[in-house]
Amino acid sequence: MTFHFSTEGSGFRYLSNQAIRLALPGVDDPWGAVRSLSLSSSPSETDRLSVTCKISDTPFKQALARLQPGETAEIYGPLGQFLLDVERPSVFIAGGIGITPFRGMLRYAVDTEIAPEQRLLYSARIPEELVFRAELDSIARRSDRVQVHYTVTRPAESPTPWGGRVGRIDPSWIQELAEPLDRPKYYVAGLPEMVNDVVAALQGPLGIPEDDIDYEVFRGF
Ligand SMILES: Cc1cc2nc3c(=O)[nH]c(=O)nc-3n(C[C@H](O)[C@H](O)[C@H](O)COP(=O)(O)OP(=O)(O)OC[C@H]3O[C@@H](n4cnc5c(N)ncnc54)[C@H](O)[C@@H]3O)c2cc1C
Repeated sequence: MTFHFSTEGSGFRYLSNQAIRLALPGVDDPWGAVRSLSLSSSPSETDRLSVTCKISDTPFKQALARLQPGETAEIYGPLGQFLLDVERPSVFIAGGIGITPFRGMLRYAVDTEIAPEQRLLYSARIPEELVFRAELDSIARRSDRVQVHYTVTRPAESPTPWGGRVGRIDPSWIQELAEPLDRPKYYVAGLPEMVNDVVAALQGPLGIPEDDIDYEVFRGF
């Protein structure tokens, strides 16, 4: 679910693509009433900020899912150094809900037209879990500098037919898509196991220097 919060009159500003801490005071959750969340909006969307969450059965997430238009949340931030480098081409590698900061970065790049080429490699278990798919396709249509590529790891678990790539994000796929780019920066976001595997592949078989890799780990699921 995506939640939009009006920033009108608040003076809230952030860089592409930072995170926030979102609090729902009064929610009784064993892990507290606050979660760190990447912003899925872009600083170019000046009237609001947005977050996109995987809704689990924790009291916090259930309370978030019940929020009604007009209700408020407490937002702390912006936080984090997972920032788009607009001087260099980008390779974005997302697993599942890890797509959130990349939706913001891609949107920022096409809205401002300042970033060079960008490639998104996005993996989900089933096609329905490819969040923002229609919007990402439309962003790619708007700019010949942007390409989006999907892979699905368990298509048999979905009733939706899938004619695209099947399997995890592996070193050969990353290499194939990144090869035409001039010294790209690599960004990885997702759950811990996915981020560990991809960063190990980048640093190992692909020989990418540590300084050219940035990652955000979504713990807690
Ligand atoms: C920078 C950043 C960006 C993130 N962006 C997003 C996003 O865009 N969308 C999104 O859905 N999630 C995001 N997350 C993850 C988010 O903060 C939550 O951890 C996640 O959504 C799970 O929350 P939950 O209430 O569903 O589950 P829970 O499992 O209840 O997790 C809630 C909290 O409890 C902690 N916790 C759970 N189990 C343990 C344990 N055994 N030991 C110690 N601590 C534990 C977790 O660290 C977490 O803070 C992000 C996290 C970080 C750090």
